[in-house]
Amino acid sequence: MEPAWFCQTLIIVMVLCFGLSVGSFVNVVIYRLPRDDLAISKPKRSFCPLCGYQIPWYDNLPLLSWVLLRGRCRSCRGPIPVRYVLVELLGCLLSFFIYQTEGLTARYFFYFYFSMCLTAITFIDLELMVIPDLLIWPTAVLGAVNAALTPYPPLAGATLWRFLREGGWNDWAISLFASIAAFILGYLSLKALSVIYKLWRGHKGLGDGDPPLLAVIAMYLGLPAIAPILLLSSMVALISVVALLSAGRFQKQGLALKAIPFGPFLSLAALIWLFFGQKFLTWYFSLLSLPQS
Ligand SMILES: [Zn+2]
Repeated sequence: MEPAWFCQTLIIVMVLCFGLSVGSFVNVVIYRLPRDDLAISKPKRSFCPLCGYQIPWYDNLPLLSWVLLRGRCRSCRGPIPVRYVLVELLGCLLSFFIYQTEGLTARYFFYFYFSMCLTAITFIDLELMVIPDLLIWPTAVLGAVNAALTPYPPLAGATLWRFLREGGWNDWAISLFASIAAFILGYLSLKALSVIYKLWRGHKGLGDGDPPLLAVIAMYLGLPAIAPILLLSSMVALISVVALLSAGRFQKQGLALKAIPFGPFLSLAALIWLFFGQKFLTWYFSLLSLPQS
């Protein structure tokens, strides 16, 4: 066996297993973080929320245990939500695809952390309509560290980048400055929309956690990502609302459609942009620079 090939395979297996175990941990975060009576590390062992059964290690293996137990608790036979498998699988896939684009670099870890935070936010917001601060502020601080440690000239804003460089700025300082500017503008753009909506309709249309979430997303994905992410997330949210309404989901549950969590849509749009944003911008700018004929 070729040593290089063997090494490459070993790294990919490790990247997949790492993603799987982080996904497994994120499941704990999703359940425990928004619940005041539970801490992330206390109790130490995972337990069945229905019967309190302490889950032994062999029933707690990512993906495998859920399949072997056919999605039911060994003790009370109560259902284990599909979410557990979904989040583990997402961890695995996100880890792999970020590794594919970034390699095994510092940025791989920053972006994988960022994407798993978005995953946790999505499921917490879907269930409880809150976005915990602990998933926002530490992620913002790490976003600033990432910007300073791994600076790279963005596709849009290259002129400003060149201008600052000529003015004697270091790359890390420009990158940090750009990420903080993106944070502020991301926050303000959604906050402004939320204020306008409230003035217009007389009630809140957006959660308090949504502007900080877009701020953090902008920090990692850059200023040019704000408008496309807002557009994409609103479009998907609108389509989902129409689909839910026409399927009669709200009437069946006796709910009126007053508010839907926007965090999952922002997160989804951010993940799409993470993988396809640069490609889209390259394509878009190539259109702009086409010679007129
Ligand atoms: Zn149980």
